[in-house]
Amino acid sequence: MFDTHCHLTGDRYRGGIEPVLDEARAAGIDGMVAVAVDAEDAAAARDLAEAHADVWFSAGVHPSEAGRSHVVDALLPLIEHPRCVAWGEMGLDGHWPDPPLDAQRSLFARQLALIQSADADGVAPLPVILHSRKAVAEVLAMIEDTSIAPERFVFHCFTEGPARVEQVLRFGAAVSFTGVVTYRNAAEVAAASDCVPIDRLMVETDSPYLTPEPRRGERPNRPANVVHVAQFLALRRGLSDAAFEQATDDTARRIFGIG
Ligand SMILES: [Zn+2]
Repeated sequence: MFDTHCHLTGDRYRGGIEPVLDEARAAGIDGMVAVAVDAEDAAAARDLAEAHADVWFSAGVHPSEAGRSHVVDALLPLIEHPRCVAWGEMGLDGHWPDPPLDAQRSLFARQLALIQSADADGVAPLPVILHSRKAVAEVLAMIEDTSIAPERFVFHCFTEGPARVEQVLRFGAAVSFTGVVTYRNAAEVAAASDCVPIDRLMVETDSPYLTPEPRRGERPNRPANVVHVAQFLALRRGLSDAAFEQATDDTARRIFGIG
């Protein structure tokens, strides 16, 4: 199965990335999307994807990086790399006061503009991984204002309730869940997951963050733990683990264009 969103670059894993990838393979994970938080990170994720047949990568600038100056255009050559499967992650984070939302909005707007100009230039129309925390309505308002097809957007790490997920589904985007959905204090998020049709549902770890139950105390989180997110959602839906895995893998392969 796929971990559709993890951060694997830099020194996030003390023992290096190889044991983390091996552990994931042993757990049956046969695909991981190494998601970037800025252009430099995307280049590191590209290197990882070039070295490993089961790793793909994305290119984008995370809203938490909005305080630093970014040459958003530097993303374009990375997007055109054959193992790049998505733009992102990008979006808005209303949880932390810093960087200020204005700076986040302008960084996000610049990336949305770059995507539309790349589309116009005939660059392959990759999906867009969205980071949206306490900002679903604002993110929706910004993406509705673009020419980018709704079905290209993925709301990653969805952490809100049914009313918000219904807005996202009405718009036409896909939704992906992390270990947060397994937490006992996140019943609203689990209820939101029930609303998502399986052909628009994906699972992820967001490693090294958000370790799922029953491993919640363990840090750092690792892609192998995506099975716990999947098992939790399969049980909720009354599906076998195998059927759930097959369906969400199909969704991930279709959205990210992985053969
Ligand atoms: Zn992330």
